[in-house]
Amino acid sequence: GVFHVKHTLSSADVIVIGGGHAGTEAAHAAARMGCDVTLVTLKKDDLGVMSCNPAIGGLGKGHLVREIDALDGVMGRAADAAGIQFRLLNRKKGPAVQGPRAQSDRALYKAAIQKLTEEQSGLRVVEGEVTRIDVEGEAVAGVTLSDGYTLKARQVILTSGTFLRGRILIGDKVIAGGRMGDAPSISLADQIRNLGLPMGRLKTGTPPRLDGKTIDWDRLEAQPGDEDPTLFSFLSDRPAARQISCGITHTNPKTHGIIRENLDRSAMYGGHVEGIGPRYCPSIEDKIVRFAAKDSHQIFLEPEGLTTDTVYPNGISTSLPEDVQHSYVASIAGLEETRILQPGYAIEYDYVDPRALEDTLELKAVEGLRLAGQINGTTGYEEAAAQGLVAGLNAACAVMGREKVRFTRDKSYIGVMIDDLVTAGVSEPYRMFTSRAEYRLSLRADNADQRLTRLGLELGCIGAIRADRFAEKSNALDHARARLNDMSLTSRSLQQAGVRVGADGPRRNGLEALALPESSIAAIEQASGEVFDFPEKIVQQVTYDALYANYIHRQKQDAEALSRDEAVRIPADFDYRQLSGLSNELTSKLETVRPRTLGQASRMEGMTPAALTLILSRLRKADRKVAS
Ligand code: FAD
Repeated sequence: GVFHVKHTLSSADVIVIGGGHAGTEAAHAAARMGCDVTLVTLKKDDLGVMSCNPAIGGLGKGHLVREIDALDGVMGRAADAAGIQFRLLNRKKGPAVQGPRAQSDRALYKAAIQKLTEEQSGLRVVEGEVTRIDVEGEAVAGVTLSDGYTLKARQVILTSGTFLRGRILIGDKVIAGGRMGDAPSISLADQIRNLGLPMGRLKTGTPPRLDGKTIDWDRLEAQPGDEDPTLFSFLSDRPAARQISCGITHTNPKTHGIIRENLDRSAMYGGHVEGIGPRYCPSIEDKIVRFAAKDSHQIFLEPEGLTTDTVYPNGISTSLPEDVQHSYVASIAGLEETRILQPGYAIEYDYVDPRALEDTLELKAVEGLRLAGQINGTTGYEEAAAQGLVAGLNAACAVMGREKVRFTRDKSYIGVMIDDLVTAGVSEPYRMFTSRAEYRLSLRADNADQRLTRLGLELGCIGAIRADRFAEKSNALDHARARLNDMSLTSRSLQQAGVRVGADGPRRNGLEALALPESSIAAIEQASGEVFDFPEKIVQQVTYDALYANYIHRQKQDAEALSRDEAVRIPADFDYRQLSGLSNELTSKLETVRPRTLGQASRMEGMTPAALTLILSRLRKADRKVAS
């Protein structure tokens, strides 16, 4: 893909509006499928921009990146090229809920995305503002740019992010903008309203950026990355960039005092914002109000790259006026003398209720027009990119007259997200979590390729390099599984090798033996006297598969049982507070909504299978009491 002067073009198979994370992944996916794709974005420099935190992945989000990568998308490869600190989150918990995360060098991330885009054949990038989506009858026909130029296509994907009627708020200052430094899209927003789509307002925020040269690093605790970094792409083996540490500091009672005194000057508390913000990524004002009893919050000081002094203080996003930002930052240990390079701000924008979409992200009302990314009420680069992938693949299938690609809840986090969005809609910015997936034991980050790459090969969106790598890995896996499956190990030999098992138990094959406590490939080698030569990734994969084999069966039964319990009634005065293990967020939501049945509760936004199980078991207990 090369950057094009638009006047040499008049049509494309697929037009993508917006070059953010959703647009990039959408355009690449359609081009990988063999379509002729034109991506129109405000500035060609948009590709690979991280509007907020310089990081990719995290809990639930890391799973999405792995799934995008399994379908040969670009986000994982770019994140690996740009990663300056890799950390596997939840390392102490089971592998199913571990989330790969990497802090990125912003400049390297952008460079990686731009390079991948240049290399992608069939993809052109055009600089311009789309002011109208052209619709003929009930089908999309193309787009018109601000200078009147028109481009025709039967498939259009809109990924304009936070730009639709975007408003930036700092204290009582309001600036029209899609993000700091960029103008909002007003004409397009008006037109979309005219299409009669259900819309709402959401908001999000970002912290002030700090000058790293003025931070007293020596006084702060340092947080290094993992010693054995977990990368995103199934094609990557090791980090490409130099690895760094982050700093850790904390807010304190003085910081909280300053913020509390100035709450009425915050855009969010001063009544300047109508949109609803991300509960999971609260501003520092939100934290002080909601967690009034806490007198300290942790802040990660994350360098934004290897060649910049800018530091992103993760944990203190705000819409307070600049003078208050200066005084609260100065009250924090290590930041007493720190210069603010860019103030924090909140941004409020239009989104489209995703219930207006099919599960292919096509608008029910307009054939050929798909929406992906933050415009659908989600938050985060990974959620945006994953939707872009779904929209891009489906646009390509439509162009080729092929069947739709459907992602389901039992096969991928992508499927969980799409189903959540199009069936339950959003009441606040939607973020992925492992708890949203009822099949999370089988939907692991480590096996995303085993779950999805074959589908990609059938679709034709997988390049030759990945196809080879995948075949190689699949062969090695089959070989390892067959070899383990053919073994017959006595319990005594396993016990002697350190596996926790009674010496008189039955014989087991290698896969069964791997599922035992304290078992490992090394223990099986010892017990059998055989020496395996399995590569490290294969060892990890078969070990996790064996570990979860028994649970996955139970998980399936649980999921089926839950759907049978749909009609169970919840009394109007049900006391959610007596359920230990239910998050405060969910408790307050349930108290507001007061669902009448378990089915209704299950469709509430943010509801988790674990919470449903808690409610159900309490109802059962109450039933038994009444019966006895
Ligand atoms: P974007 O990345 O916003 O890309 C939209 C693209 O569309 C831009 O390139 C723009 O130039 C282009 N465009 C817009 N209108 C037009 C038009 N009319 N014609 C042509 N091109 C157009 N996420 C989190 O997970 N946690 C956070 O804490 C967080 N904080 C955020 C704070 C701020 C201030 C902002 C702006 C975003 C924040 N996000 C956060 C969200 C994250 O940045 C987005 O979820 C993600 O970037 C969305 O990707 P996208 O592709 O949908 O849109």
